[in-house]
Amino acid sequence: MRRKIVAGNWKMNGSSELVTKLIGGVKSELSAVDKGVEVVIIPPALYLRDVQQEAGDSGLKLGVQNVSQYESGAYTGEISPAMVADVGAEFALIGHSERRALFSETDETIAAKVQCALTHKLTALLCVGETLDERDAGQAETVVCGQVERALAGVSGDSWKQVVIAYEPVWAIGTGKTATADDAQQMHKTIRSLLEKLDAPADTISLLYGGSVKADNAAQMFSQPDIDGGLIGGASLKADDFARIFKAI
Ligand code: PEP
Repeated sequence: MRRKIVAGNWKMNGSSELVTKLIGGVKSELSAVDKGVEVVIIPPALYLRDVQQEAGDSGLKLGVQNVSQYESGAYTGEISPAMVADVGAEFALIGHSERRALFSETDETIAAKVQCALTHKLTALLCVGETLDERDAGQAETVVCGQVERALAGVSGDSWKQVVIAYEPVWAIGTGKTATADDAQQMHKTIRSLLEKLDAPADTISLLYGGSVKADNAAQMFSQPDIDGGLIGGASLKADDFARIFKAI
């Protein structure tokens, strides 16, 4: 069975006040969600403990927006997967398009981060997606499959259970433009076929869609056969909007 996941990526937004308000609001809506659905909050790392405290025993899960590929040591400003696991967070976003574009993360770095996250039993939430130029040039599937293949080259055996992939077309992130449900489904199906070729347990790996998911398009996305949930940016910053999205799964 594939995990059903809706994760909210706060990006570099938030404050102590927002944590209290937002988590309070989200918690009060969780009872309306199927027990099997994982609702994940991915705040700036500085607020992890606050979110955790506010979430209490609600069942909300926690993640980070980035992790180091190194174990420990002289890497100023970095956070290791071991530290993430130590404070009780379970998910690590890896290779978000903003990290690739603004912080020059390469496929090689991303693959190393995936390995380090898996070693520490985190769920590696790998983000992949094409730019508009790449889509217009008919390269979308080639680009996305290349990113998946290179990032997951070192994964094998039981570690596949800790891998989740988010397909996030770069042109849809934070723009209000969403892929059509058909286009998103097609890309998810392509990724699943690729996973089969890589000898991964493709039928058990959760694939999420991300890119301007809103309350009014979530249900249609989540009803596609190869879409197992969503990675939500902007709309995860308002409890009502986020709740309407995770209740749509
Ligand atoms: C994201 O940051 O991963 C994302 C999908 O953002 P948004 O929902 O705002 O497009």
